Amino acid sequence: MKQTRIILLLALLIPFTGKLAAQSPAQATFVKAGRLLDPRTGNVLSPAAVLIEGGKIKEVGSPAQVQGHGPTGVKVIDLGHATLLPGLIDGHTHLLLDVIVPPEAEIARHSNGIFAPSQLLAIAESPTKRVLLGAQLAREDLESGFTTVRNLGHSGVDGDAALRDAINAGRIPGPRILASGRKIMALGSYVQNLNPALAEAILQQEFLPIDSPDRARQAVRQNVFYNVDVIKVTVGGDISVPELTAVVEEAHRQHLKVAVHAIDTPSIQTAIDAGADSIEHGDQVTDEQLKQMHDKGIFFDLTPTFAGSFFMKMNELSIVMSPAFRARNTEADARDQKHYADLVPRVLKSGVKFAAGSDMSWFYPGKTRGQNSVATIVNLRDAGMSPLDVIRAITTNAAEMLGWQDRIGRIEPGKFADLVAVAGDPIADITELERIRFVMKDGQVVRNDLASP
Ligand SMILES: [Zn+2]
Repeated sequence: MKQTRIILLLALLIPFTGKLAAQSPAQATFVKAGRLLDPRTGNVLSPAAVLIEGGKIKEVGSPAQVQGHGPTGVKVIDLGHATLLPGLIDGHTHLLLDVIVPPEAEIARHSNGIFAPSQLLAIAESPTKRVLLGAQLAREDLESGFTTVRNLGHSGVDGDAALRDAINAGRIPGPRILASGRKIMALGSYVQNLNPALAEAILQQEFLPIDSPDRARQAVRQNVFYNVDVIKVTVGGDISVPELTAVVEEAHRQHLKVAVHAIDTPSIQTAIDAGADSIEHGDQVTDEQLKQMHDKGIFFDLTPTFAGSFFMKMNELSIVMSPAFRARNTEADARDQKHYADLVPRVLKSGVKFAAGSDMSWFYPGKTRGQNSVATIVNLRDAGMSPLDVIRAITTNAAEMLGWQDRIGRIEPGKFADLVAVAGDPIADITELERIRFVMKDGQVVRNDLASP
């Protein structure tokens, strides 16, 4: 399976390389900037230069060191006083979902007060329409500095894999995508009250339900058939350790990592006992569980989506709220804020490996998907995470969580030339990440607002 994948990848790369060569005859690029931050060490190189050849980083050093090492005709990009960083990585996103907040009456009268049907509406839409939505959101993520994302479900049968392949083939702009295909889960979670005549077809399009270890292994293989990069499982107290262990064993046999959505304490324990590679959300993790995760090398993937009064702000921009609804949202925001302010220091203190993801699936009026996703991750600062650790969570640490530490996450020779730059110092002001001025992926400039006219 792996071999087939490599051959397919090569087949995709051949026309792609040809296209790039036609666009930019000067393969080598020399990027200069006032500063370069290495998130792993926290060291700053100033001034800094990066030599890029064939889409990869060839050399990093001071401009005096690196200059003159490239071939003749090297293209120079001078970013002035800006700070260079590795391209950002969103460890958890949903590029084929763009949920619009439903009116209050819709939630109260049709959904028993639960905000679930929006997801149902999205997944009942045409897969063709959704993959084109994904194309837009992928471009918006890239423009905001995300050069790699891990897409963890809600993409139809093969929507995220098709989007990944279209980006890799140079058909549309977007980040590198690790696609998970369909979410593996127990029947009964997420969507209810479907029309029985259509329920099976709708569920089949979005999920791979399991009820035994055999079915669990089969679900992994079904996703492998669609050439996924990672396996996503949702555990809500409804999947047993043997079932999840079967998923992990089969995925690892196929060289795929397993990301497990787990919120409550028993589900987190199931994920730990089954040997998951990362635990997504992890809201109700205990200190003892953090220790077990640390000892087993399981990643904690923080998703601070609702910190920073996100839900209230989005509601305010989307719908009319009654005073009672507003009060409930204010309470929920305060709870989320307090929860994250408690969780983040505990995660950091435990020494567990951590990364971060936006878990973004919402339409936020006035912001692109990329802007919305970066702002979400920056919320970690208010929960007590240092700016350097926030940057690590979406560069070096995230690369390791994805198992791609050999190709992305740092600016060093041999890695893909995925770079971003901000005008100021992101350690002094982490919100600089919300104002990415320069994006390069694969050695190709995606945006450059720093270029002198
Ligand atoms: Zn998610």
